[in-house]
Amino acid sequence: MLLTIGTTYQPATDLGFLFHKHPDKFQSIDLSIGKAHIFYPESSEKKTTIALLLDIDPIDMVRGARNLSGKGFTLGQYVNDRPYVASSFMSSAVSKAFSTAMNGTCKDRPKLVNKKLPFEVRIVVLPAPRGGETLIRKLFEPLGYQVNLQRHILDGKFKDWGESKYFTLELSNTITAKELLSHLYVLIPALDNDKHYFVSQNEIEKLLKKGKGWLETHPEKEQITRRYLINLGTLTRQALERLSDGEEQETKGELAQEEIKKKETLHQQRLSLVLEQLKKSKAETVIDLGCGEGKLLRMLLKEKQFSKIAGMDVSYHELTKAKDRLHWEEMAPKQKDRIELFQGALTYKDKRLGGFDAAAIVEVIEHLDENRLQSFERVIFKHAKPKTVVVTTPNAEYNALFENMEAGTMRHTDHRFEWTRKEFEDWANRIAEKNNYKVEFLPIGQEEEKVGAPSQMGIFKLAHAP
Ligand code: SAH
Repeated sequence: MLLTIGTTYQPATDLGFLFHKHPDKFQSIDLSIGKAHIFYPESSEKKTTIALLLDIDPIDMVRGARNLSGKGFTLGQYVNDRPYVASSFMSSAVSKAFSTAMNGTCKDRPKLVNKKLPFEVRIVVLPAPRGGETLIRKLFEPLGYQVNLQRHILDGKFKDWGESKYFTLELSNTITAKELLSHLYVLIPALDNDKHYFVSQNEIEKLLKKGKGWLETHPEKEQITRRYLINLGTLTRQALERLSDGEEQETKGELAQEEIKKKETLHQQRLSLVLEQLKKSKAETVIDLGCGEGKLLRMLLKEKQFSKIAGMDVSYHELTKAKDRLHWEEMAPKQKDRIELFQGALTYKDKRLGGFDAAAIVEVIEHLDENRLQSFERVIFKHAKPKTVVVTTPNAEYNALFENMEAGTMRHTDHRFEWTRKEFEDWANRIAEKNNYKVEFLPIGQEEEKVGAPSQMGIFKLAHAP
């Protein structure tokens, strides 16, 4: 794909100074996934145009094993649009090729840095899924660009297939080079919505840095941020919070964001309630079964009361995430002595689960097949037998209040069942009775009339021997 930036500012050859690239030279730079070539298709005092041509190697992309595109089908990692469209690769190339101009420095013509110049930009080919022309205009026009678009049909030979999500985009505007490059840097990947690398905290920093001075006031700042951070709720929210700089955030039409936020606060609330129960139980040793990415483990580590903490999960991937979250590699030896992590399943008898004062099983049972619950019961309540067991699970009655949830569905695709309060209480009472425990129940989250709270907790205490 090709990006060209031209100017008719006189003398137009100043573009070479501004972009720190000599008009007579053909230059190439290495990218992680191929090369970018920089050259001037035209260069005269009247009009000068610089071109950035990306030459992406799809094999490099696969080798790096960081390619997220085309994940929907087997050959997707080889057969995809990445080599032909302006995507986040284009952003990387822009920032690498024109870093000096982007940072607002120009050794030979310092006055040009803050000068607004008439620019004409052309991008071939730009993908704009889920939004198309309207979206492209909404992103560029508020920044003063004149937008000219040509939409490509899917296949010239098969006109009936209709139009594609790909466009040739022409922009013109009179602005500084730094502004222009920052806009392109952020808006191209925001339009593309398909990233080639994992979105991380680092991306927020880049977005805020490059968006400084214009993104804060852009009417589509939510949409840009969300798409730039490929819809990752937590990152988007953090970025938006920082963009609005403490001011009240406008979340109109951001229902999905709101729900993610609610879910997270609910989970935090749930974990705090579990911790409270574990502390109250006077347990000194505790195991978190189905610990996931280790949020509760981190909270437990902060409490001196717990001298031995263990986390178990069936998923190796989750355990790796837990290690990251706990900064395992840098952990002080004294802390490390207190904690162990291991892989295991809740439905198989396992000696390693024995000998703990308390066990937490937070939002896990609903991931077990219902016909495996009996094994679970034996493993925990008959063999491991901790003095305290705290179990939480969603309350299915509350689902009626989730606006985005269709009737008859569950909160998570991996949930095998979701119980009403009565179903959970019946199950828990039966188990308690059979295994010499006493159980009490607590709601988690705000209780609503008729349907109760979003989540529920059972606190099992081993009864003293008769
Ligand atoms: N307790 C964590 C994670 C809940 S998600 C929290 O509240 O944040 C459910 C977790 O249970 C996942 O990490 C999943 O890998 C784990 N899990 C599912 N089935 C399991 C099984 N049979 N044995 C152990 N862990 C299991």
